Amino acid sequence: MVIDLHNHSYYSDGVLSPTEVVRLAKKQKCDVFALTDHDTIDGLAEASLEANKLNLQFVFGTEISAIWNNMTIHVLGLKINPNNKILQVGLKKHQQLREIRSEKIACSLGGAGIIGAMEKTKALAKTNMITCTHFAQMLIQEGICKDMKSVFRRFLVGKKPGGVGVKWAQFDEVIGWIRGAGGVAVLAHPFRYRMTHTKIKRMMNDLAINGCDGIEVVTATSSADEIILASQWANELGLLASTGSDYHGWLNQRVRMGCLQDLPNFEQAVWRNWTWQNY
Ligand SMILES: [Zn+2]
Ligand SMILES: [Zn+2]
Repeated sequence: MVIDLHNHSYYSDGVLSPTEVVRLAKKQKCDVFALTDHDTIDGLAEASLEANKLNLQFVFGTEISAIWNNMTIHVLGLKINPNNKILQVGLKKHQQLREIRSEKIACSLGGAGIIGAMEKTKALAKTNMITCTHFAQMLIQEGICKDMKSVFRRFLVGKKPGGVGVKWAQFDEVIGWIRGAGGVAVLAHPFRYRMTHTKIKRMMNDLAINGCDGIEVVTATSSADEIILASQWANELGLLASTGSDYHGWLNQRVRMGCLQDLPNFEQAVWRNWTWQNY
């Protein structure tokens, strides 16, 4: 089975509409597919409709920013009930934080001589959600930077122009929103944070103690060593293993939906008890 439980649409920082993302999942021969936009569930209704038409097993998901040890991490909520009020209120709070951040970023870029950053960035976004990626795309489009790499070297991070920290909800609260909505909480891309292995493991332990169900063992960019290590850690901590490409559809992003290496141990798969016909 081809299972991809981490994908984005233009409801956050992806390029395609939910319908287009689902059609691509079908084309890529996915059997099970999740849409997991950042801090929103707004694309799920459209995606689920298209998935039903195409007989694709669709998993309702989201990817929520959270704070662990003063650092931002991403926690996936899979199989969530999108009508759950606790989750909706939590996501609303994060969307407001994102709006405030956007204004601060635009203001900071303005201070660095980039005029009209907000208007130009809004023109690039297809929904109300403005992410750092949209600002990055604007900086490239305006010819200020040549690619994403140079954007995040010169702007939008730390003390650079447009670098704005956000006080997302704490990780235990975010896990609570997900589990309160009947979902499964999964730490996304464990090796993409700037942390030593010791620290990652400490974080995973804290998450596990606070109700996190699993970690993403396989991502599109995982090395063989990372997959084995993450799978071992999951075993030790009693966590389940998930698999997802983190597809966004950006030009020159080499990630392909549904093209993922196998989990080392299928017994620990996050979907091992899921009954597909219930979707
Ligand atoms: Zn992420
Ligand atoms: Zn993601």
